[in-house]
Amino acid sequence: MCLIALAVVEAGASGSRVARPSTLPSMDESVEPRVFRNVWADVVPAGEPLSSCTCFEQLPGTSPVSGAVRFHPEQQDTASPGWQHLLELIDQAANDHREEFRPLTELTEIERSQVITLPSDISRLTAVRHLQLYGSHLVRLPPEVGAMRSLEKLTVYTSYRLHWFPYELTRCANLAESTVSTRALYGNFKFRPPFPALDAPVSTDRPTALSGLDPGTWGTTSAHECSVCAQTVTDEVHQVWISLVVATDVLPLLVNACSDACIQALPIPPGGYIPGPHRGGSVRQPPLAYL
Ligand SMILES: [Zn+2]
Ligand SMILES: [Zn+2]
Repeated sequence: MCLIALAVVEAGASGSRVARPSTLPSMDESVEPRVFRNVWADVVPAGEPLSSCTCFEQLPGTSPVSGAVRFHPEQQDTASPGWQHLLELIDQAANDHREEFRPLTELTEIERSQVITLPSDISRLTAVRHLQLYGSHLVRLPPEVGAMRSLEKLTVYTSYRLHWFPYELTRCANLAESTVSTRALYGNFKFRPPFPALDAPVSTDRPTALSGLDPGTWGTTSAHECSVCAQTVTDEVHQVWISLVVATDVLPLLVNACSDACIQALPIPPGGYIPGPHRGGSVRQPPLAYL
């Protein structure tokens, strides 16, 4: 999303539900005053607190962090009413083959705050063209989002705890429009917040059952399938970061690869970003506001 579009949306997000018509008399009384709809108002109720975190500074005028950044360690409470309600909504959406899925509007405020990721069942939503998650409390998305083969538009704007995306999102070949809060992303051009450091490839003396992983260390809770070739990961997983153009944004993507060969096969990042796959941590980034 470009800067200009961001400014417009920010203004709209904090505004009233519907812009007031002008109180000035119209030159032509036969012309109805125009009423501009706040496109976000029917997504999250006005006044509801948006998610936030202290991983790194996201506000204009603040200094970028220089220390280490870690993944969000939160575990999804799968017994919570919010998660259970979300599962029901996904089931409904999968059965009626709807093209727009905006589950957060169906949840209560408390339920919304209980959803910090999406279930793997999201892969069932193969007819959905717009995934609307404005104002979510998400801290990560699962790799299964890459199975949403009809996805054309992804809206996660003001999800300020969502700092990265799974590389599998690049499998959504029709994804052409994204609405993301740039300042919340690792390595964004405004603040260049660091990426969490990734371990060297997991070798045979490390856990081989690549499920039940600690999201605070791995970013993900499972890495059964290679993000690149989709083959089953057998004895080791190679994690790297890469920043790529996805729809209308440059997104930091976490890759869980089965081999060095799959890492070598990754696309080349755009200018203004770390020019290849990396393991985060103290890796050097381009200067601020390069673009
Ligand atoms: Zn955070
Ligand atoms: Zn692979």
